[in-house]
Amino acid sequence: MGELSFSLDMSRLQQSKPAESGQDEQTRELIIIGAGPAGLTAGLYAGRAQLRPLILVGQSLGGQAATTSEMENYPGFPEGIGGMALAQQMADHATRFGAEILYEEVTRVDLSGDPFVVETYGPTYRAKSIIICTGASPRKLDVPGESKFIGHGVSFCATCDGFFYKDKRIVVVGGGDSAVDESLYLTRFAQEITIVHRRDKLRAGPILEQRARANDKIRFVWNSVVEEILGENTVTGVRLRDMQTGETRILEADGVFVYVGLVPNTWLFKGQLDLTPEGYIATDKRQRTSVPGVYAAGDVQDPWFRQTVIAAGAGAAAAIEAERYLSEKAYEEQSHSQQPAQT
Ligand code: NAP
Repeated sequence: MGELSFSLDMSRLQQSKPAESGQDEQTRELIIIGAGPAGLTAGLYAGRAQLRPLILVGQSLGGQAATTSEMENYPGFPEGIGGMALAQQMADHATRFGAEILYEEVTRVDLSGDPFVVETYGPTYRAKSIIICTGASPRKLDVPGESKFIGHGVSFCATCDGFFYKDKRIVVVGGGDSAVDESLYLTRFAQEITIVHRRDKLRAGPILEQRARANDKIRFVWNSVVEEILGENTVTGVRLRDMQTGETRILEADGVFVYVGLVPNTWLFKGQLDLTPEGYIATDKRQRTSVPGVYAAGDVQDPWFRQTVIAAGAGAAAAIEAERYLSEKAYEEQSHSQQPAQT
């Protein structure tokens, strides 16, 4: 595996030019909100279906996948591939078949009319169909010191920030695949990594666990939670609480990486689409939401698997469904317009 590339080739993406086009509203067949594996694959399929889909990227291309250092379970890459490299290839693939990718952050949607309205900090768009692929964001610990030190010792992305921790002591919080996978990645830089987990057993899969246990740089603190992140200008340590004894102690560290799960990005759609009790967008097996013409795919509707390959598959399914919906809608509108006027 070669070195990971973190730089995004901006020349392959476009910025919208409302001033040049002389209009601040644009109507599309299909808009895809979000550009992780689900959104980019939906773009590929919709592009091949001649829908000229518009993919609105939001903050960053690739979603959670792009923050994954090394992906070893995406089919077709037996040697593994970096998450950002995979996202870049997916974006290239989608644009090759006619998808348009714009860096526009969506600020509001209105799903009550026809067409739907999608507002951004730039133009306002209208679309006959929408695929929501807004993904999920890292869950925060919500402890004192966390917000204060984000960017100064607290991180949610080893791929992005690991480099700054050369020969440093790192605390990784969490016991899932992400915590263990990213700890292994951080061993490239750090002197020592302590994984703090609230139980005495990892949630992470056995292969990752074996690798972590075999790595001299990684040690575990079980049955413990981080109560506070300590420091003046930068992080100097964490206050740990033992879940069984209630005792607290300070563990010195230069950085804290938090991997305690994800929360779905649904705030744009609250009150407009049915959500599950856990806050994910409710979809049926065909990626349909509670509003006809609106689909959702990927981590925003999937609390179970959260795998890149499954998000990509769901994106493809959503695009196929959107294409069917649009074809039927066009047929109905055409039939309606051809009916003789009633007298
Ligand atoms: P996850 O599987 O939901 O694990 C979250 C971990 O954080 C759990 O160990 C949980 O503890 C712990 N946790 C949750 N809230 C906490 C809190 N407030 N304080 C302390 N600990 C807390 O999340 P993830 O690791 O980000 O993985 C997300 C999904 O991506 C999973 O489906 C995973 O399989 C997938 N993934 C796969 C790979 C891979 O295949 N290589 C790599 C990365 C991610 P408990 O265990 O006690 O609940």
